[in-house]
Amino acid sequence: MKLSEIQETIKEHDFNLENKPGYFMKLIEEVGELSEAIRKEKSGQPTEFNIKGSIAEELNDILYYVCALANVHDIDLEETYILKDKLNKVKYSR
Ligand SMILES: [Mg+2]
Repeated sequence: MKLSEIQETIKEHDFNLENKPGYFMKLIEEVGELSEAIRKEKSGQPTEFNIKGSIAEELNDILYYVCALANVHDIDLEETYILKDKLNKVKYSR
């Protein structure tokens, strides 16, 4: 699944322009949960039976709120990635 498809899927069921600060707060909350998962060393690709509390789950939750936040701010993350990668190639001489 492409990042643009993930953004679109989220937009279809979770897009609330009145909730911009709420999406940001949830993102920060999920970063905290990732911190706990890293501290507990819950690494590796999970299955449906052990995904709860894993680093993979929290990274996914972060991706969700990054996409939701991008959507309400009218940002295409794929396009932004390409733009930023161009700048970084120059900055870091890649
Ligand atoms: Mg979470």
